[in-house]
Amino acid sequence: MIKNILCITLVILTILLLSACNSTSDNSNDKKNHSNDVKNHTPFKVVIDPGHGGTDVGATGASGKHEKDFTLSLSKKVKKLLEQEPRIQVYMTRADDRFISQESRYRPKYANNIDADLFISIHGNTFSDPEVSGAETFYYHKNSRHFAEIIQQHIVEATGFKDRGIMKKDLFVVKDTKMPAALLEIGYLTNPQDESKMWTDDFQNRVAASIVEGIKEYQESVE
Ligand SMILES: [Zn+2]
Repeated sequence: MIKNILCITLVILTILLLSACNSTSDNSNDKKNHSNDVKNHTPFKVVIDPGHGGTDVGATGASGKHEKDFTLSLSKKVKKLLEQEPRIQVYMTRADDRFISQESRYRPKYANNIDADLFISIHGNTFSDPEVSGAETFYYHKNSRHFAEIIQQHIVEATGFKDRGIMKKDLFVVKDTKMPAALLEIGYLTNPQDESKMWTDDFQNRVAASIVEGIKEYQESVE
């Protein structure tokens, strides 16, 4: 008899425990769905800034090709991929080969005016020694460091280039922007081996995808 009572009590306790568990998980699901709804209505604004343009050709690579064309080509690929992300709204500081004066501070102003969440300036590096190689990311404000770390990791992985790390640097595009901002030096255009890779569609597609992955990883970490 006592055994039966114990058994019944045990069954009741188990049922109570299970229903308690269910209701907590229902609650947390509700909360999750609700916050997802809120997120879905506020797009994450990302500004892609192709470095240089027009008469400002940027670096001249080992082959004689110009940095401004590399930055635009890669930026367009990033833009195309970001357009497929429902929760991201993408903007470009330039979509063609136009000159943007440094004095006008147009690039950071553009991002500030639209109240962007993230600003990414894309560049290719240059150095007198053609042996020098690697990818690096510059940032200025403390609020950009986390994003710089994430994006640098993704770029190094995608390029296979040496990891030159992230560095705080007084560059107006990352200094004048109010939101987290990074300037990516994808690789050295003055290094002949690296440059020949950097101009291929395959390389650029891979790097563009890695930049998008970095943006999404960062977005998830702040939302
Ligand atoms: Zn540049």
